[in-house]
Amino acid sequence: MSHTEMLLANGEHYERRFRGPSTGRPALGVAIVACMDARVDVYSILGLHPGEAHVVRNAGGVVTDDVIRSLTISQHELGTTEIILIHHTKCGMLTFTDKEFKTKIAAETGRKPPWPSMAFADVDEDVRASIAQLKAAPFLNRTREVRGFVFDVDTGALREVRGAEMSPAGLPFAELPQLQEKAQPTDELPLVARPRALRRQG
Ligand SMILES: [Zn+2]
Repeated sequence: MSHTEMLLANGEHYERRFRGPSTGRPALGVAIVACMDARVDVYSILGLHPGEAHVVRNAGGVVTDDVIRSLTISQHELGTTEIILIHHTKCGMLTFTDKEFKTKIAAETGRKPPWPSMAFADVDEDVRASIAQLKAAPFLNRTREVRGFVFDVDTGALREVRGAEMSPAGLPFAELPQLQEKAQPTDELPLVARPRALRRQG
């Protein structure tokens, strides 16, 4: 019995417990981009339930063209406005360079991948770069907030990467000290459009 067969048996149990269909529009209006790492349980970490958020995953949780495609559909067809990025400690993407990866694959398969591995050397730096990519993506103009985190696979802690995140008002948090201080917990921050400079990038 393969592991796939074992998992399919679990699926039969799931069907019996299934609570029924719900709308495909994420109830929380949130899209999450996370590494595919087996230790990163996005649903448990964030207390998410089915129907509440989109979860887009790949090796590294990096922003590729396909992630942009998914987020564009998420925003424009299914109403999400907030993005959460989750990278993590001890990521496999920290263990090789793009060149090493391509050389290895070429040696084993006889072909060099035409796409970049998108390996990175610093997890915080990659979160910041990923946030910058999302902010510069012209199709993601409905983004109201984007924040990035590193999940610690040893302690279970989710740590925010500061310095590049975008606030609900469409500006980096660092540029909005007064707004943050004045805001009351119950205040609804206005859905201010992003600065033109940000929207035009990319
Ligand atoms: Zn990873």
